[in-house]
Amino acid sequence: MPNLPGSCEHEPAVRELARTNAEAPALRAHAERCAVCRETLAVAAWMERFAALPLTTPSSLDPTSIWLRAEMLRRWDLQRKVVTPIEVGETVQAAVGIASAVALLVWLWSRLETIPASAALSSVLTIILIVGTVLIVTAATMTRELLRRR
Ligand SMILES: [Zn+2]
Repeated sequence: MPNLPGSCEHEPAVRELARTNAEAPALRAHAERCAVCRETLAVAAWMERFAALPLTTPSSLDPTSIWLRAEMLRRWDLQRKVVTPIEVGETVQAAVGIASAVALLVWLWSRLETIPASAALSSVLTIILIVGTVLIVTAATMTRELLRRR
C-alpha cells in the first residue's frame, strides 16, 4: 500500500507510542532512522506533555496559552477527520484486493482440469499457485497488522 509523500506507514503506531509511552524498541529504532516518524514522535510527545499540564497553574490562565491549546486541539481533530476516511479507504482497498486475488486463484485452480496435461505447464502452474498463495497470505498478514495498529 503506497504511502503519501512525506508519510510513513508506521505513523499511527508512533503516535500511539507517544501516547502510551510504551516499550517498543523496534519502533523507537525505526523512529530514529525515519525522519517522518522522528518528527511525529517529537510532536506527539510534546502534545502529550502540553495536554498533561495542570489547568490550575497561573501559566495555564494565560489567554495565549489557552488559545494555543484550543487551536492545537482543533487542528488535531481536523486532521483526524481528514485521515479517518483515508484509513477506511485503504482498508477497503486491501480487502477488495485480497478477495480478488483469492477469487482469481480459485478460478485458476478450477480451470486446471480443462488444460491438457503437460509436465512443464503443470509445474509452472503449480509455482504460480504457490507464489499466489504466499502473496495473498502475506498481504492478509500485512493488512491485519495495519488494522491492529489503528
Ligand atoms: Zn517511519
